[in-house]
Amino acid sequence: DESCKYTGMVQDCCCDYKTVNVLNEEVLHPLLQELVTAPFFRYFKVKLWCDCPFWPDDGMCRLRDCSVCECQENEFPETLRKPSDVLRKEDLMCQEGKPQAAVDRTLDEKVFTGWAEVDNPWTNDDETDNSEMTYVNLQLNPERYTGYTGPLARRIWDAIYSENCPKYPSGEMCQEKKVLYKLISGLHASISVHIAADYLLDEATNKWGQNFDIMHDRVLRYPERVRNLYFTFLFVLRAVTKASDYLEQAEYDTGNSEDDLKTQSLLKQMLYNPKLRAACPLPFDEAKLWQGQSGPELKQQIQKQFRNISSLMDCVGCEKCRLWGKLQVLGLGTALKILFSVEGDNHLQPVSNIIGFFFVLNVRRGLQVSNSLSVLTRILGHLWEKIGGTNLVCL
Ligand code: FAD
Repeated sequence: DESCKYTGMVQDCCCDYKTVNVLNEEVLHPLLQELVTAPFFRYFKVKLWCDCPFWPDDGMCRLRDCSVCECQENEFPETLRKPSDVLRKEDLMCQEGKPQAAVDRTLDEKVFTGWAEVDNPWTNDDETDNSEMTYVNLQLNPERYTGYTGPLARRIWDAIYSENCPKYPSGEMCQEKKVLYKLISGLHASISVHIAADYLLDEATNKWGQNFDIMHDRVLRYPERVRNLYFTFLFVLRAVTKASDYLEQAEYDTGNSEDDLKTQSLLKQMLYNPKLRAACPLPFDEAKLWQGQSGPELKQQIQKQFRNISSLMDCVGCEKCRLWGKLQVLGLGTALKILFSVEGDNHLQPVSNIIGFFFVLNVRRGLQVSNSLSVLTRILGHLWEKIGGTNLVCL
């Protein structure tokens, strides 16, 4: 397995590395980059306030009681108090120290229409509780280096991984548990790639750029992490394509019909792209999972673990990291629900195994795959509300 590295099929998926790269470069990445500028996908509804259930000593929670916050009320722009005075004054004051870690909450109110309210059982937050939710323009808050590091960040990752596979010695870990581990590891790799791709190289001059050492040290030198990145990408892509009908029918009403039509058209171009459908018709084959006798129990166990991971996001002590962590965990939760809640009647045959293409991951490809993964999870996170409560069978 180690020897074939990034040639042949992505592990446990039905698509090979080369095809993923070509598809992403030629089809997905350009479309997704355009899609994220659409008003509908620019905004994300999220609960950002710290409510960490695990560590009362967490640095961010101490900040929340405002002992170190000295800003005056009138320093906060009017826009921050919208919508409908949801944000409490003390919450606004309790932003973590570094400017690059704080979320820019500037809003364009015309998009706050037409959001359905459905809770996602895979996540810990109550997505229907509007008093706790706020809207964030993601274009103003790119996923990148924030300066969040050290033992508090490490503690979160350690807890996430230990929640995943504590009881299973490596050899015995069942396939389904491996899926959860690989999804998290792929997401972690994607976060690391985003940090490396947009790094604060010089704080004094505020110079940002790519940091190749970080890219290499955290991702590229670990073949397993690269493989998990591709796995997660294909897993999420499968969920998006499986939900094509829902995604096509969902409303993208932001008040500007021209924008909304464009959003819909871009999504359709992606979902029904002939190149994508021909080259990678079944990115991941979920029908192979959950077949054992303990299927339902396992599902519940994994759902519980995933919810734990989701609640760990409240302990992330950097607002912008929390924003992206929550968004992507919601996206992965939605992907899990789509793939593991619906009986697969549109089960397609895997494409033949095309082994032999030599492929070496380079920085640009790593970036593109992470980027598209992030956007795909964003689409799912957004559309949870549209698709979650309708025809999908609840676990
Ligand atoms: P970490 O990335 O903290 O990794 C900790 C340990 O996990 C490693 O030592 C290794 O043993 C293991 N590990 C690392 N990668 C993988 C992998 N792919 N698969 C399996 N195991 C792995 N920082 C930012 O600057 N911007 C952000 O947007 C951001 N978002 C974050 C979101 C979340 C949810 C969390 C928990 C943290 C986020 N951080 C962010 C912090 C960032 O992920 C790192 O924790 C931080 O940069 C310190 O990195 P590190 O080198 O110590 O290793």
